[in-house]
Amino acid sequence: MTIRSNSRHGRNESRTVAVIGAGYVGLPTAATLAHFGHRVVLAERDESRLAALRSGKMPIVEAGLDDLVAESVLTRTLRFTASAVEAVQGAEFVFLCVPTPQSDDGSADLSYVESAAKEVGEQLMPGAIVVNKSTVPVGSATMVEEVIGRPDVRVVSNPEFLREGSAVQDSLHPDRLVVGADDAQAAALVGGLFAATGAPLIVTDATTSETIKYASNAFLATKLSYVNAVAGLCEVVGADVRDVMLGLGYDKRIGFEFLRPGPGWGGSCLPKDTRALLHIAREAGYDFSLLAGAIDSNEQQLVRVVAKVEAACRGSVEGVTVAVWGLTFKANTDDRRDSPSVEIAGRLAALGAVVQVFDPTVSGEFPADGETVADDLRGLQLRADPYEAATGASVVVVLTEWDEFRWVDFTRVASVMASPSIVDARNLLDPAAVRRMGFTYDGIGRR
Ligand code: NAD
Repeated sequence: MTIRSNSRHGRNESRTVAVIGAGYVGLPTAATLAHFGHRVVLAERDESRLAALRSGKMPIVEAGLDDLVAESVLTRTLRFTASAVEAVQGAEFVFLCVPTPQSDDGSADLSYVESAAKEVGEQLMPGAIVVNKSTVPVGSATMVEEVIGRPDVRVVSNPEFLREGSAVQDSLHPDRLVVGADDAQAAALVGGLFAATGAPLIVTDATTSETIKYASNAFLATKLSYVNAVAGLCEVVGADVRDVMLGLGYDKRIGFEFLRPGPGWGGSCLPKDTRALLHIAREAGYDFSLLAGAIDSNEQQLVRVVAKVEAACRGSVEGVTVAVWGLTFKANTDDRRDSPSVEIAGRLAALGAVVQVFDPTVSGEFPADGETVADDLRGLQLRADPYEAATGASVVVVLTEWDEFRWVDFTRVASVMASPSIVDARNLLDPAAVRRMGFTYDGIGRR
């Protein structure tokens, strides 16, 4: 393995690049590469995502992405197509940014990666470099090489570490770049595409690079499970988790990031990637009980939050109206994949609660009866704002940390509720302030 300063060793030449998949990773990646001066063609087969892009709208909620895309479209360094085959014509580099969802057995489903590789394999220009940016298990670079079956084409692993909600900043200024390949020259060329970031470049073999991505996400998930477990302990011993985390965070070995307790970790990456790593470990005969514990602990956190809501409703939510504020897996994104907020809202509905939900990103058509049409939100009642969601409710449950929930008029909320009570699963609100307004308040690990 080598670690280099990418700005010194990288190249700044303009390259031709194809990006396959215009999702939460592919779109920021394509826009960033175009911003750096490369000529990028982005292929997206989903008609609605492609139509949005072509009409200048962003198909995902991501701060600053519209400006970055618009700038590159204007300078003609970025264009869109429905066809991956068309995108790879003349491309020196082809980034695969397609989904790798969880299979039934917990392993990563590589069918999108495999079919994209098959689709473009014969069309790649001689000497092209294919880059696995999708999160893929150990051995995937070799798998893609075999699917393409061309000795002149090299496959490089380049995992992505951006966070939804700050994807543009993370893409322009990554903490580090990881490139894994058996061919050092190919790795250097891929690193060179991102030279303008100036980020440290870790060059290693493909297996190590693939392991780095899963190990990073599993570490973050484990850290959150630990924080949530400590919050549970704080409740039992009467400590305040926020001060406990302050005390931990100032220790440079621990740091402040990922120290906020919540309703459980979720999103499109941590759950599937931790399970995929556990699967990899099991297949390899390695007992990774620490990671299994982190996953179990996360399930317990969901259960704990539901129990808090039941307690706020005197033991049962059956027939009780419950207001849920927030559905996305975190604030500043529209992503609800594997969202703990959706999961908890669904569990409350399954227990017989009438669940009235509001999220700033869930808007559009509100059917007359408030019933949603989205599959993951079935059984929940959509409302147009936090006050409507709270109307007639016995408890407000804050499940996503949208900043706007801090600035709600709580006197008005109290006046429309059946009884003013809050379960704050993000520790977003000031307990003393809402208690002064007559609410009962229960957060996570705090008094
Ligand atoms: P996504 O579902 O938002 O986007 C994938 C896109 O690829 C979709 O729009 C889909 O229509 C398109 N697509 C699939 N096959 C295609 C094909 N053959 N041709 C053209 N388009 C095709 O997924 P995502 O969140 O961007 O994740 C992509 C990968 O990146 C996954 O492996 C994920 O684990 C990884 N990752 C995601 C994040 C994140 O925060 N979302 C962060 C790091 C890594």
